[in-house]
Amino acid sequence: MTPLLATAGHTGPDLGAWILLAVLAAAGHLLHCVIWPYRPCRKCGGAGRFRSPSGRAWRYCNRCSGRGAQLRTGRRIWTHLKNTNRNR
Ligand SMILES: [Zn+2]
Repeated sequence: MTPLLATAGHTGPDLGAWILLAVLAAAGHLLHCVIWPYRPCRKCGGAGRFRSPSGRAWRYCNRCSGRGAQLRTGRRIWTHLKNTNRNR
């Protein structure tokens, strides 16, 4: 028996299951961010640019530099983890 499960048994019967569930959810979210690393930019809504009121001109979004995509937080964590492992 691992120390984690042993301590969970003392505090409550459901705590170990909740921790396992939280770990699984976090791992699932991380995997989701690895497969789909981008989300639409919040400022331009994924369009990548803003149209002028006349409709004939536009400028690129400053936040995503015209790509309309932003890297998700989970993907940043994943990249950080990969870099720390490489440095060891
Ligand atoms: Zn944008």
